[in-house]
Formats: sequence, structure tokens, C-alpha cells
Amino acid sequence: MTRALPPLPKGFTREAVQRATSNFWERRRAALTAFASAEQNRREARRIRLEALRHLDDYLRQAVANLRRRGVQVHFAADAAEAGRTIVEIARGHGAKRIVKSKSMVTEEVHLNRVLADAGLEVVETDLGEYIVQLAGELPSHIVGPAIHKSREEIQALFEAESGRRLTPETDVLAGHARQALREKFLQADIGVSGGNFVVAETGTLVLVTNEGNGRLCTSLPRVHIALVGMEKLVPRLADLGPLLAILARSATGQKLSVYTHLVSGPRRTDELDGPQEMHVVFLDNGRSALLGTEFEEVLACIRCGACLNACPVYRQTGGHAYGSVYSGPIGAVLSPLYWGLDEFGDLAHASSLCAACWEICPVGIHLHDHLLGLRRRLVERRQDPAPERALFGGWARAWSRGWTYRASLALARALQAPFRRPGGLRNLPGPLGAWTAGRTFPPVAERTFHERWDALSAELDRDDQGGGGQGDQAGE
Ligand code: SF4
Repeated sequence: MTRALPPLPKGFTREAVQRATSNFWERRRAALTAFASAEQNRREARRIRLEALRHLDDYLRQAVANLRRRGVQVHFAADAAEAGRTIVEIARGHGAKRIVKSKSMVTEEVHLNRVLADAGLEVVETDLGEYIVQLAGELPSHIVGPAIHKSREEIQALFEAESGRRLTPETDVLAGHARQALREKFLQADIGVSGGNFVVAETGTLVLVTNEGNGRLCTSLPRVHIALVGMEKLVPRLADLGPLLAILARSATGQKLSVYTHLVSGPRRTDELDGPQEMHVVFLDNGRSALLGTEFEEVLACIRCGACLNACPVYRQTGGHAYGSVYSGPIGAVLSPLYWGLDEFGDLAHASSLCAACWEICPVGIHLHDHLLGLRRRLVERRQDPAPERALFGGWARAWSRGWTYRASLALARALQAPFRRPGGLRNLPGPLGAWTAGRTFPPVAERTFHERWDALSAELDRDDQGGGGQGDQAGE
């Protein structure tokens, strides 16, 4: 069974996605070219993340003890429902009505906005891209740039509909409007919700990386701050942040460092003038612990830089919404079936050409193409493919396992394809293949196999040698 894919959002433009991903890709390339120790940094970042995962229970215990020592209230959520319940209970305990949120994929993962709205709370996204997709009623289409699929004119229309004001599509006008609208929301908010890029076990520090400063306002202006963090986001030591932050910013946006790197060390202390009175960290499992110790463990090392999306030829054509999951691109194609099951998301394992561009670009070297193959293997083992398809591929495998049946099947295919040959390829094929050839050509079976061409070439060379040798002999006479 596969999920029904949502329709592509109105105004989706492939050009906008390709332009944005090319920009990200080019900026990353330039930043890493200028970074002398890029490869060494990448190895170090991978080592740190894998070490954290190997000893996750120890580092989690250490982080919890240090967070509590700093006055942070720590919660655990086994799944999305428990995470939502926990955050709603905290909000109700404070009589909260309004919530501001900074950008966080893990809150998207648990559909926190919907849960909070169902509980009667007003929640406003404060990252510009997230604010745009919230107004449009869409999911983010990219981990780093949630609204890259939107044109400025579409954003203008969304802002005008929301505010009732006339605007123009210049970037500074649109950004200025959002800044003004959001500033009011910050001042009215009872609670600020954030995610967390990392949690340092050694010190109990929550690390947030943003470019707009909204994360800082969310975590320090309202009287309560709640951080929802994937339980895999731990790093052992404060010193580990150096290599991770350096490679994260360069891989994501081509910056040496993000504009704001925010180290949150607990709620306001008695001698401090500002900051939240109360701080909560909710560690989310939601399928993560089930991956520890498995062949897929390393996917938890992901630092959500989005670089694999920019490199992926499939993502660049389809954009993020086609994946039908909050996580898109190669990492989404691996994470979604692992977190939420092959029944619903198994088809994403096929949304890849297995070119391995995602692995090459990944700052922590996750072998995404191998994991996609691993998921495909699982699908085959579960025998979820339809019986006719299984019979077809079984027969094909048997036919091509022996020389004479391989040659006979090619001769047959050549004969059968003759009525469908057109300039450029095969068209109007019968049966299920017709769906393919209705819009494209299908490559024909070659007139001669490689072996046949090789034999012919060898025979030709032998003839030439014999002819050439004879002339030499004659010349020597
Ligand atoms: S898998 Fe690698 S490249 Fe993709 S988002 Fe995660 S860290 Fe970045």
C-alpha cells in the first residue's frame, strides 16, 4: 500500500527549484574550495557524529543531567503523539494562547502546528520561508529553504491576502512586511518553540543555528521556551561544535558560519535581565532508537544541511512536495520509510538514480545510495511487488543466466520490436509499456550485442594482422 501523494502546490515552478538548488550548490562549492581543510573537517564531523550515535545512551544520560543542573525541565516523547501532548500540556499549564516558532524540521515531523491549532492555540512560524509556507498551507519543500518553490509574486499575493495591504514584489518590501508582522507576534507570544541543531552532552547546551535572528527572539522573548529535539542530535563535547558548525554552514548555504549561532544554557537566572522564566527540552524518539545498531544507524548522523537535495537529479526535477513527506530528497527517501514504514513510504526508495551524488556531497559522508539499495532489498524480501512483475523479473533473470537463452531472448526482442520502431526509438508499445511510450521513446534493443560486435571486431583485426604481416614479409624479400 502506498500513500496518496498530495497535489503539487499551486504555482509550483520547476525553474524556481532548479534555480535555488543550483545557487545553493554553487555557493557550497565555492565555500568548500576556499576551505583548505574541507576534507579533513568532513572526516572529523563524521567521526564526531558516529561516536555520538555509538554511545547515544551515555551521552543522553549526561546531557539530561547537565540540562537539569542548569534548570531545564527535560521530557521524553516516544512518538509524535506524545511530543504533541507534552507541548500542549506545558502550554495549558501556563494558560498560554499564543506561540511563536522558529524553523525546525522535527516540529514539522510531528505536525506540531496542527496539534497546537487543534488545542486552540495560535501558532506562528517566524522564519521567513516557514512563514510563507504556513500562510500558503503547505509543507516546506526544502530542508534549508522551505519556500524555494515560490516566486516573489506568489509571496506578494500571500502577504496581501493576509494583511489586506497592497505590496510590491521587491524583496526588501516583502521582507520588511514580514518583519513588521512578526515583530508584533513576538511581543504578544506566551511561548517560544524551537528545534535544536545539536545538544552538547558535556555542558547541557542547546545549539541553534539560524540566519534571521528569529530563533534568538523565539528562545528569549516569551516567558517559556520549549525545544523539541531529535534524540540523535547529541554531540559529546563543546569542542566538537567547531568542525560541525564549520561544515554545516558551508554545506547548507555556502557561508563560513551561519549569521546566528545560539548557545542556550537554560532559563533566565536570578541575576539576568532577560530570557525565558522556564525552559523545557523534549527529546523525540519517533523511530530513531529502532535504527541504532542496524545497518541504517549512520543515517541518524544527518545534520540537516540539505546539500544532498541540491545535488540530487531527482529532487532537482520534482521539488520536495513530490516526496509526500516532510523530509524530501535523498535523506527523505531514506528516513521516511525507516521512520514511518515501507508500506507507506517504500516507493521513495525508488526515487533515485543511485548516482551517489548525495553521498559525495554529504558533509558527514552518509552512504545514502547504499541505504536506498538496502531499502529496495527489504521491499524485495517482503515480496510486496505484484505477482506478474515478480514472474516477469524472475523469468528475465533465468533467461539471462545462461548464454544461449540470453542470446535467444535478444533475438526474440529484436524481432518483436520491429513493428514499433520509429526514428529515435520505440513508440506505442503494447500493454503496460504503453504508458511509458505515450509520452517518451523507449530505447530499442541494439542490432548487435556487445559480444557480437567484439567477435566481429576481433575477426577484423585478425584479418588486418594477417594482411599486414604478409606485406611485411613481402617487403623483406
Ligand atoms: S544526509 Fe548529509 S547531505 Fe543530506 S541533509 Fe543530511 S547531512 Fe546534509
